[in-house]
Amino acid sequence: MKYVILLGAPGAGKGTQAKLLQESLGLPQVSTGDLFRFNLKNETELGQLARTYMDKGELVPDEVTVAMVKNRLSQPDCADGAILDGFPRTLAQAEALEGLLAELGGHISIVPSIHVAQDVLLDRLLGRAEIEGRTDDNEETIRIRMRIYEEQTRPLLEFYSGKDLVVKVNGQQSIEDVQNDLIRVVQDAV
Ligand code: AMP
Repeated sequence: MKYVILLGAPGAGKGTQAKLLQESLGLPQVSTGDLFRFNLKNETELGQLARTYMDKGELVPDEVTVAMVKNRLSQPDCADGAILDGFPRTLAQAEALEGLLAELGGHISIVPSIHVAQDVLLDRLLGRAEIEGRTDDNEETIRIRMRIYEEQTRPLLEFYSGKDLVVKVNGQQSIEDVQNDLIRVVQDAV
């Protein structure tokens, strides 16, 4: 089992790139944001809980998120591994993932980190807010999400660098060029 973790700030293009990578790698994309939105749309108990955090731009508690990921990674389509998009987002989640992968018998192959400058991220997220109408894409929640990223998610770069897994990818290129760079670094590793 091989796992690829896509790191990057909100708006860096993780979702777009993870979806495109699925075919080249033959691994499914597992996006915690998409899983929460699916639950929200279907008005499940998990969705109702997640909404209270998502609407404010805050993170859903680690235990809830980890349990959801554990369930998803145990499904048959993840038998060979997965491309993780939006998870882990905290050090506690990263530690929990280590335990989970030990249980499942898999390992993290590589952690591509998609880099985009702050002002570009803000423009992209504000643009996406208009196009997709995501309820968490207004200026106030965007700023909260970016701050939470800096405080809670950025430390993961160091965590995975310490394991020699991080490869930087320039996210300020066309979608195709980012994808080509990603495929190049990921295919060497998986
Ligand atoms: P995303 O689509 O990845 O930007 O996620 C949208 C929202 O879902 C985030 O702002 C959080 O409220 C929640 N979320 C997604 N992934 C996680 C995670 N790994 N841990 C906690 N909350 C998450």
